[in-house]
Amino acid sequence: MENIKVGNLIKFYTVVLINKGPKHGYELIKELEHLFGKEISTSHVYPFLKVLQKNKLVEVKKTGSRDKKSYFITEKGKEFTNDLLTKFNDIIGAFVESKVHKCANCECEIYKNGFEKIVNGKKLIFCCEHCAKH
Ligand SMILES: [Zn+2]
Repeated sequence: MENIKVGNLIKFYTVVLINKGPKHGYELIKELEHLFGKEISTSHVYPFLKVLQKNKLVEVKKTGSRDKKSYFITEKGKEFTNDLLTKFNDIIGAFVESKVHKCANCECEIYKNGFEKIVNGKKLIFCCEHCAKH
């Protein structure tokens, strides 16, 4: 399972969506299409589902009267998803951090709409009007 590459967002969401609850293949593709706002070919999803299945990250069970196949997440699959989300979180975190400014007065973190003011020829960023006055 160490060699599973989740190198694109379709794969990423495939894992995340199954982690949220059992899905039919068809359901999964519909949800992916909804998320991405475009048609998604089964060839982008089914081979990856096979890989997940082979590595016991998902299980296939027949459900309902019409014998439709559903994909279920396994315990191993849950761990894998958690790992994946943690990594993803770290990437997002690093990105957000690079965008965060510190208020030049109180040092609180500013994500957006900071107050810019030129002080002694230097452009400083403040969290609010009051800090800018200091
Ligand atoms: Zn401040």
